[in-house]
Amino acid sequence: MAVQTEKSVEGLLLYLAVLRAGYVYLPLNTAYRAAEIDYFIGNAEPSVVVCSGRNFGWVSKIAFQAGTAHVFTLNEDRTGTLLDRAAPQPDTHQPAQKWADDLAAILYTSGTTGRSKGAMLTHGNMLSNARTLKDYWGWRSPEDGGDVLIHVLPIFHVHGLFVASHGALINGSKMIWFAKFDSAAVVKRLPEATVFMGVPTLYVRLLGEAGFGREACRNMRLFIAGSAPLLIETFNEFRERSGHAILERYGMSETVMLTSNPYHAKDGERRGGTVGFPLPGVGLRVSDDKGAPCPTGEIGGIEVKGPNVFKGYWRMPEKTKEEFTADGWFKTGDVGKIDERGYVTIVGRSKDLIITGGYNVYPAEIEGYLNEMDGVAESAVIGVPHPDFGEGVVAVVVAKPGAKPEAAALIAALKGKIANFKVPKHCFVVDALPRNTMGKVQKNLLREQHKGLFGG
Ligand code: AMP
Repeated sequence: MAVQTEKSVEGLLLYLAVLRAGYVYLPLNTAYRAAEIDYFIGNAEPSVVVCSGRNFGWVSKIAFQAGTAHVFTLNEDRTGTLLDRAAPQPDTHQPAQKWADDLAAILYTSGTTGRSKGAMLTHGNMLSNARTLKDYWGWRSPEDGGDVLIHVLPIFHVHGLFVASHGALINGSKMIWFAKFDSAAVVKRLPEATVFMGVPTLYVRLLGEAGFGREACRNMRLFIAGSAPLLIETFNEFRERSGHAILERYGMSETVMLTSNPYHAKDGERRGGTVGFPLPGVGLRVSDDKGAPCPTGEIGGIEVKGPNVFKGYWRMPEKTKEEFTADGWFKTGDVGKIDERGYVTIVGRSKDLIITGGYNVYPAEIEGYLNEMDGVAESAVIGVPHPDFGEGVVAVVVAKPGAKPEAAALIAALKGKIANFKVPKHCFVVDALPRNTMGKVQKNLLREQHKGLFGG
């Protein structure tokens, strides 16, 4: 069942109902338009499509043409043909029996580096991860005072649907449900909550609220961030303002959650700029280009194994084979390192790695230096075709409000800090970086925009 609806409580119930009935759930980003929906429906061939009433015209046309038998609507205001059809049905039912290895959901990857692939997740993948996180993040049982989660994330993505919803549901916790993130409204409700999960941009927006501080956070137990890198500056400012060290974790559609900074102080400190330790039961290793293990602290490709790792890409057996090593580890496509204490740091996606004049340049390293410079809010470093070097390094920088950093001065400052081949040949100062709905910088768009820069 493919579902593209605005976030609603009924939308969450629909997800749970699909699982209980033993069907397979396929959530779709609400931002997707005709060409994308055409691809997903054509590729997945769902029997049922559920969409917003206002999109029924074009979505149903695509679905019926692809052979979908039923198209229903579900709206934010509790209307729609799905609810009309459900109303006369009995309230009791028998959940279907499913095994751990049975397919539960297909999540199309966000595709910032190519055509989206449908990651097949099983009941076992999701249950094992939910149980691990319940323990690792110290969820409080309802008898023990209970936790209350502020749910602000979309429910078409692993973060909001699995990590947040499963976390609260498996623990029997209340959720304060926001259809959309609204920083002022969230700050008002914070005193009623104990747990918050967000992508880094949401933390930046909370910090922009004058009313956000220790008082608003007085009952909070835990702030969790993920889906994109949390800037160390945000981590530090948040700790100063709220008294809370944000717990950063790392995961992906194909694997649900992989690593987490520690929750309990006895397990170590929460270190900004890292994504913590592999979760219990998850194997994580860093390998070089030839598949050999990298020594501690060396950068390489991150590979993982565990009960949380997906079954493969829907109808792409070749692609699936390519993404697993001969000994069964999944190649995440992320590049990173493990330090001597076991903390994992993500340096970027392997596809974002820049090779200039034969040298590897890791964008995160240069972004780190740029972000520390006066007047810089954030940055993205990319490689674009260059006739001599293969790729030329280019920086795109966002200024802090009111600041006017000079591109030439930033480049000059970098020259004193890092090897010349890493120094961007061009630097653009812009108002904002292009991001998708999960807060990830769309470097593919930046590369496209600047591809002719060196006439390469
Ligand atoms: P998605 O499948 O849309 O959840 O995207 C997963 C990707 O997001 C990962 O492979 C990472 O590249 C990135 N990601 C997730 N969490 C983090 C994090 N805490 N820090 C840096 N990158 C992250």
